[in-house]
Amino acid sequence: MRVYNFSAGPSVLPVEVLEEAQRDLLDFNGTGMSITEISHRSKPFMAVNDEAQALLRELMNIPDDYAVLFVQGGASQQFAAVAMNLLNNTKKADYLITGNFATKAYEEALKYGDIGIACSSKDKNFTYIPDMKDVTIRPDVDYVHITTNNTIFGTRFTELPKTTAPIVADMSSNILSEVMDVKDYGLIYAGAQKNIAPSGVTIVIAKRDLIQNPMDICPTLLKYKVHDKNDSLYNTPPCFSIYTALLVFRWLKKLGGVSAIQKINEEKAKILYDFIDNSNLFTNSVNVKDRSIMNVPFVTGNEELDAKFIKEASNNGLVSLKGHRLVGGMRASIYNAMPIEGVKALVEFMKKFELENK
Ligand code: PMP
Repeated sequence: MRVYNFSAGPSVLPVEVLEEAQRDLLDFNGTGMSITEISHRSKPFMAVNDEAQALLRELMNIPDDYAVLFVQGGASQQFAAVAMNLLNNTKKADYLITGNFATKAYEEALKYGDIGIACSSKDKNFTYIPDMKDVTIRPDVDYVHITTNNTIFGTRFTELPKTTAPIVADMSSNILSEVMDVKDYGLIYAGAQKNIAPSGVTIVIAKRDLIQNPMDICPTLLKYKVHDKNDSLYNTPPCFSIYTALLVFRWLKKLGGVSAIQKINEEKAKILYDFIDNSNLFTNSVNVKDRSIMNVPFVTGNEELDAKFIKEASNNGLVSLKGHRLVGGMRASIYNAMPIEGVKALVEFMKKFELENK
């Protein structure tokens, strides 16, 4: 029996996608071989690679002067790759510190240049996104780095920093969840394991003129221009993850694309936040304007009760609701593939739990 899986990642995938992948696991497109058994240079796989790229371009309306790359190493590898590829002029960059991963990205970049902090919301345990008026960006930086959705703390940017420098965005936990204008960014990166596919592939979308002069010390496999020149097939790519990404892109297109899923995501988030805001037991401490529509942390204010909630929810088919250790309590990740019925079932359970534990 399938449960409602609120994991922050790897996370829920559409059932139709899993069913199709299950069929292709034995015989992909009449080849008599599994999708996991064919060469990355074979015609059937190259067709998967090409269509995945074309569909992502279509779904995100990515201009032609941007490269779309499928790489490995997770979003964490990009913390270093971004620095080594883009710190190529003044070797300065400024980072907006809005969470744990933003901090890690900043700390990694420190190894490669003169890295500044443009703002931080650490003073309130990252429960808000600083006002863009309070962000200070040096005039000559090579880029500015933001994390558009903070997976652990449940915040998201609704406004971009004012700068003429290219904005680099870690979109790991909200790529394809709402309409974004790629032209607002110099580079976007995202691990696949939330809104796209099983872990393995990492998406990089980069304005081509920014990625032509990586540092000499940059490993070949981290040079964006190498992957761009080779259609992401310089070496063996994470084939199964790219293949599943293609199925998810087709699923999303059939559903009406990013604007359609955005409406559904907003509706799901509203159901959950409305319940929490009217609850006498559960609270969410994130600044209302900055609330994520992907990751919703909440607590009862009593650790024992939180543990009881997580256990009983799990017994009722609502799983992976334990919050991150930096925040505690609970977190419901309601990515694209979480059906609205899952959110309704969670709210019904929360109602019942509240009545029983007043
Ligand atoms: N950035 C964000 C916003 C994330 O949520 C995560 C992972 N949950 C990462 C970076 C790190 O990703 P990975 O595990 O793919 O390196």
